[in-house]
Amino acid sequence: MMRLPPFTYLAPRGVDEAVRLLEEHGPAAMVVAGGTDLYPNMKRRQFEPTVLVGLRGIKDLGAVGGSVRDGLTIGAGVSLTRVSREPDVATHYPALARAAALVSTPQLRNMGTLGGNVCVDTRCNYYNQSYEWRKSIGFCMKKDGDICLVAPGSSRCWAVSSSDTAPVLWSLGADVTLAGPAGARRVPIAALYQDDGIRFLRKAPDEIVTEIRLPPVDGWRATYWKLRRRGAFDFPVLGVAVAVRLEGDVCRDARIVLGAVASTPREAPEAAGCLVGERLTPEVITRAAAAAAGPSKPLDNTDLVYHYRKRMTRVYVARALRELAGLPPSAERDVWPPGMTARAIEERG
Ligand SMILES: Cc1cc2nc3c(=O)[nH]c(=O)nc-3n(C[C@H](O)[C@H](O)[C@H](O)COP(=O)(O)OP(=O)(O)OC[C@H]3O[C@@H](n4cnc5c(N)ncnc54)[C@H](O)[C@@H]3O)c2cc1C
Ligand code: SF4
Repeated sequence: MMRLPPFTYLAPRGVDEAVRLLEEHGPAAMVVAGGTDLYPNMKRRQFEPTVLVGLRGIKDLGAVGGSVRDGLTIGAGVSLTRVSREPDVATHYPALARAAALVSTPQLRNMGTLGGNVCVDTRCNYYNQSYEWRKSIGFCMKKDGDICLVAPGSSRCWAVSSSDTAPVLWSLGADVTLAGPAGARRVPIAALYQDDGIRFLRKAPDEIVTEIRLPPVDGWRATYWKLRRRGAFDFPVLGVAVAVRLEGDVCRDARIVLGAVASTPREAPEAAGCLVGERLTPEVITRAAAAAAGPSKPLDNTDLVYHYRKRMTRVYVARALRELAGLPPSAERDVWPPGMTARAIEERG
């Protein structure tokens, strides 16, 4: 059994106090919210903080406020269960409710928070392993080593952004508020991420995500499709968030954001461009879905072979768009064809 290393737990009552504690303890400290990602990572010695600043006692982080007309705010400490069931979210931002409901298991959704999901660590088959396992292969640059075992010649880490809610929040045009020693600042969620498996968050270590703000619905409709091995629970190996703004049956604006295909959620602007000014006919959808596969560049470092995950981008984007267009699900295959090898899939493209 893997055990947690010893650490000191600090329980601030307010955001200012939490920020002060993070600043005071520097690199020794980390924030913990629900702990559903951080504690397993600490057991595997992927993170080794000696001080944890717990957010659970900060009441302000647990509030849902604002309105659908002016924009809804969700505290970073709101549980994923509540996000998935909150009436305004479920009714007006159903893609977010769906993504939250698809994260891991009921127990982990009860503990896990929206803020923790937005900041969840990137993942890789060579990294999400016990200390002994990682040691046996000489470690890698994300922790304790100096090379990338997926791309040995690479100077960067390619671990995969594996948050279910991040692509949806990006497609909805959400903002996050960050509180730090210099005060609070609000940034578009797209600006919170960068394509680097180690430094995947563009924020200082002593900045805390305090709230996520969803813009007014304003005619936008969105959905989220998740590919994973087990339907009961599993991290995404592909997440597809699609948002469209329709006027009548003509698409006036669109955003397509892919999860689990890079170290950051990745937008597919060319695919979205195929939709603008068009009716969502099966032909337009097929064209946009094909364009969405371009920026989808999974590597061989998560579950299911990467050629398949890339192929499934097209299939899942088409399915998401068909759902938003009110068309019946397409007959496109999403199961591994019997007897087909990964090489055959790759050769067929
Ligand atoms: C078996 C299993 C299955 C899982 N499946 C999924 C899945 O399918 N999809 C998915 O998205 N996730 C999955 N997870 C990961 C995790 O449960 C969720 O991402 C969860 O939402 C994390 O939230 P938390 O509050 O528990 O975060 P924590 O574990 O408390 O924190 C996660 C990280 O975010 C930082 N952090 C937390 N809150 C803040 C904040 N407010 N500001 C700044 N930094 C912060 C922490 O320092 C830490 O680095 C799974 C985990 C397990 C163990
Ligand atoms: S992508 Fe490379 S450096 Fe990053 S976790 Fe995987 S093996 Fe390690």
